[in-house]
Amino acid sequence: MSTSDSNQQSASKPEEPVVKEYVCKICGYVYVGNLDDEPDDYVCPMCRKGKEYFEEKV
Ligand SMILES: [Zn+2]
Repeated sequence: MSTSDSNQQSASKPEEPVVKEYVCKICGYVYVGNLDDEPDDYVCPMCRKGKEYFEEKV
């Protein structure tokens, strides 16, 4: 196979126009984005609590 192959990746993941927000229940820090994209050991930059302390804003 030649390496000049244009490997087109058609990203099949649907674009979500809605930006999610999560609020830390401990300190009130607001995380903007998809918390699911963060590793399981993600901690709040303010109070160092884990993801389980974040609540999705609605
Ligand atoms: Zn916090």
